[in-house]
Amino acid sequence: MTQVLKPYLPQERDETVLSWVARLAAFHTGDIVARFLNDFSIPSQRLLAGDNEVLRNLAEITGADFGGLRALQPEQTDQRRYRFRGNDFSSEFMPQKELAYCPRCLREDDERGHSTRVGRWMWLFEPVRVCEHHNVPLIVHQKTKWNDMIRGFNEIAPEKTAIARQADNMPEWSVSPLQGYVVDRMRGETGPAWLDSQSIEQASRATTMIGVLEGWGASANLHTLVDDDWDKAGQLGFEVTSGGVSTIRQFFERIQRNHPSPNANVGPQAVFGPLYKWLQFSRGGKDYGPIKDVLREHILDTMAVKAGSNLLGEIVHETRRHTVKSLAKKSGLDVRTLRRALVSNGLLNGGDKSSLNNSVDAVAGEQLAGALSRAITFREIPEYLNATRGQVETLLQEGFLQPIINPSGGNRRFSSWVDTREIDDLIARVSDRAKSVDKPTSGMLRIPDAAQASKRPTKDIVGLLLKGRLSTVEKISTERGYLSLRVSPVEVEEALPLPQADKRPGRYQAAKLLGLSSRTMKRLLETPGQDFFHPEVRKEGACAKECFSFEEMERFKRKYVTLGELKKRSGWHHADVQKELRMHGIHPVCDPKWVCAYLFEREQVDPVIL
Ligand SMILES: [Zn+2]
Repeated sequence: MTQVLKPYLPQERDETVLSWVARLAAFHTGDIVARFLNDFSIPSQRLLAGDNEVLRNLAEITGADFGGLRALQPEQTDQRRYRFRGNDFSSEFMPQKELAYCPRCLREDDERGHSTRVGRWMWLFEPVRVCEHHNVPLIVHQKTKWNDMIRGFNEIAPEKTAIARQADNMPEWSVSPLQGYVVDRMRGETGPAWLDSQSIEQASRATTMIGVLEGWGASANLHTLVDDDWDKAGQLGFEVTSGGVSTIRQFFERIQRNHPSPNANVGPQAVFGPLYKWLQFSRGGKDYGPIKDVLREHILDTMAVKAGSNLLGEIVHETRRHTVKSLAKKSGLDVRTLRRALVSNGLLNGGDKSSLNNSVDAVAGEQLAGALSRAITFREIPEYLNATRGQVETLLQEGFLQPIINPSGGNRRFSSWVDTREIDDLIARVSDRAKSVDKPTSGMLRIPDAAQASKRPTKDIVGLLLKGRLSTVEKISTERGYLSLRVSPVEVEEALPLPQADKRPGRYQAAKLLGLSSRTMKRLLETPGQDFFHPEVRKEGACAKECFSFEEMERFKRKYVTLGELKKRSGWHHADVQKELRMHGIHPVCDPKWVCAYLFEREQVDPVIL
């Protein structure tokens, strides 16, 4: 077919092919579209479907560029499926029964002449509700006649004066960020990564449904929402979805935190309302994109969902969280006892009654519940372990046995509950190398007796057993538990050598060795800014004691000399010694009344008193 339509009527910017064809019909034949299509053998259904062959024919008839036409008309790819500029979507995204228009745009078209109204491609899409040029809501015309879709706005929309009146009476709306995103993406621009990773329809729908939850809460009724509401929902949702998965999960947490859970039985439907129902009860196997997995993972991570149940279209294989009730049922424990234990152990926040806190980690929870159901109290341990109360106390104090819940972390009630599995494990470990005998070999003693005989602490003997450091250990076959073991005190002594005795003198002894009185020693140590002694600290059991190294005492003796020593050395009367020293201008190093002694610097005295 050769080009037959002249002059060439160009497409307006953003004008759909359907709108252009309607204008072509009016321009060239002054006729209605249906007859125009008939004249050129263009089936209207295929034109509506944006069929490639039809567009090619139109390009030939008019001299237009096929690629240009293709970029301005969505193409039907399947039943109720369309594609536009590389984006695939369903007919819900491009409502077939509605034709939306901006009366101000049409008024401007009218001002240019007759039959000049242009249908813009953005108006085809459901998330587009506001004219981006005039910031007014689009007016939606419901398709009433079979051929409404192919008729242009010159025929469908009100006539010139009515459209001008409509245009004058529009409220001001702003373009929602979701609409902006959808149109920009159609124009080939990139947007937030998470939204760009899915189809445009999935991105738009997920954003809107999150917005509904944010704006109208879990009990939102979608049927009561009007255009304005959906626009607002797109706006609210975009703040969340544009931030990607982490922002979406933070949003879910906030929703849970604000949702009270008085009976701890609140499930995901009650908390996530419209979003959950949309994804859970979808029909026809629709693919809603990544939002489904984000919500599903979040629910599994934070709420109790039974294994085997259907969550958002998939069977749950493993329970990640339990409610206190379901865990109590599974473990056969009392709900209140279990709750207290979970709170004490930090698995549950005792003060938080929100639905973010109505479940516990399944693995940690089951572990604690298991330990609790096997646990015995402090009173029962001696019998179970076959040890005295004192020995059990030592084992607990030294950490060989751990209470189920650290007493510093919470409820004292559980501070003496010990898992019998742990007690069994301790017995097994200390008996690991024991040889079973009917009677103990001579000299082999029970652990407490061996501790007494070797003068070594029980805890150190248990430590040796746990480390496998004792070569001979016996277990009496007719006895059980802790007291059935026998060890050799001689081997214990060898394995635990006593530290070398510390012979450094204390203050009293040091004074004696230096020929000073105790009081003098005390005063010297108390002299402000003193440099006589630098005492050291020796640990003796639990308390620290002052002591003096031999080097330190030598240093003192080399530096200072007492009047007593000078008297002895010279054989003079002490008054003569003092007189002699004064004559040489030598004075005591500190006030003799304060220190109760005359102390001189040896360096000064030695040349004078021989
Ligand atoms: Zn407009």
